Amino acid sequence: MAETTKFLIIGGGLEGLAIAWSLADRGETDVLVLERSTLCSGMTGKSSGVVRCHYGTPSLAAMSWYGVDVFTRATEIFGDDMAFRPCGYVVGVGENNVAPLEANVAMQRDLGIAVDFIAHDKMAELWPGMNLDDFAAFAYEPLSGRGEAYITGMAFAASARKLGVKIRQGARVASLLQGSGGWVHGAVLANGDEVHADHVILATGPWAPELAAGVGVDIPVKAQRAQLVLIHQGEPTPEVPVLSDLAGLQYLCREPNGELLVGNSDHAAPEYIDPDNYVNRADEKAIEKNIGKLEHRLPSMPDPRITSSYVGAYDVTPDYNPIIGPSPVAGLFLATGFSGHGFKISPAVGTLVADLLLEGSTQLPNVDPDDFRYSRFAENDPLISLHPYEGAGEMR
Ligand SMILES: Cc1cc2nc3c(=O)[nH]c(=O)nc-3n(C[C@H](O)[C@H](O)[C@H](O)COP(=O)(O)OP(=O)(O)OC[C@H]3O[C@@H](n4cnc5c(N)ncnc54)[C@H](O)[C@@H]3O)c2cc1C
Repeated sequence: MAETTKFLIIGGGLEGLAIAWSLADRGETDVLVLERSTLCSGMTGKSSGVVRCHYGTPSLAAMSWYGVDVFTRATEIFGDDMAFRPCGYVVGVGENNVAPLEANVAMQRDLGIAVDFIAHDKMAELWPGMNLDDFAAFAYEPLSGRGEAYITGMAFAASARKLGVKIRQGARVASLLQGSGGWVHGAVLANGDEVHADHVILATGPWAPELAAGVGVDIPVKAQRAQLVLIHQGEPTPEVPVLSDLAGLQYLCREPNGELLVGNSDHAAPEYIDPDNYVNRADEKAIEKNIGKLEHRLPSMPDPRITSSYVGAYDVTPDYNPIIGPSPVAGLFLATGFSGHGFKISPAVGTLVADLLLEGSTQLPNVDPDDFRYSRFAENDPLISLHPYEGAGEMR
């Protein structure tokens, strides 16, 4: 006999687990999560964990702000601090991008987000030794910072389990079950077992298109290669805020051990990969480019060396914003295409999906669920930044 559940969540990454927890927290404990491998072993395990509210789309900025609040109060909510470090976040821009910076900060303030402009001398205090010559302006979010996506995902999982959610690992879904009229009412596992469900939630990151295609839903998500490099400066990096360097198109985060995580913010020539088959280290070209930019930004590193590198895949949509909402076939709900934003907004994603499934609307402040609808691509109505940055692409 097939197993039955009210809510079947496919994918045990950060988003699937946040949704499971939010449903259970609302009293909906008949929830089953199926994960083909182990929890958070997909792109969640590759996340840089940056928490910023600096977005040009109000809904995303508001969802990040909601995330800051949940991460800050994690011990109170989950009994676990989720390893969030409110080290602050700075975005620095060149002369060409001062106007969008000002417009984005004004929008953030309208949403109640804590953000200030800071001058060069304050930035020099926050990040000693940094070359600030090609920056024209900075915005600083004192309450944002850096989290740990794996720890956060596992905290959602532990809390969901305590409330009664069932989680299966090593449980690969081979296909979705579709009844008459196209209704999706469950899934078939690779071992042939069937699970029947009232609601199927697809939260499989860059792997979402394949399962959806089986029921005639075309998900416009591609796996975009992200190359990350870890640097030891020769001495431990002191406590510094996360930096989005929009002049150099890179981002820098201090690791808890004092190394620096260096990521690329230049998405002008994206490369796509097979998320099941890629080389898990940065290539020479990326490393050279990263090092060149880093040496410009931090000219006094005493004895810099690369300690490691790795590669992840952003599950990008055509407008670099997520798809959250019902699919065109009844019974199937989509939560995918997080396009590099999925860590900071994960608490809001859980709440939003639970709201939409249980009530059909959301109480999340300043979040319009319509922004994330699947149909926006076919309608040629993409979700794009109101104040885009020159050269920085759409991941803002
Ligand atoms: C390199 C990198 C850096 C990032 N940095 C940041 C950042 O600084 N800040 C930020 O906010 N966001 C960041 N992100 C984005 C964020 O980390 C992701 O959006 C988020 O972790 C994705 O979670 P997910 O649950 O959607 O996907 P995943 O974590 O990929 O989870 C999907 C799960 O589905 C499972 N699965 C796939 N197919 C099946 C199947 N058939 N059956 C069962 N299970 C299946 C997979 O095994 C996987 O565990 C980054 C992402 C990457 C790749």
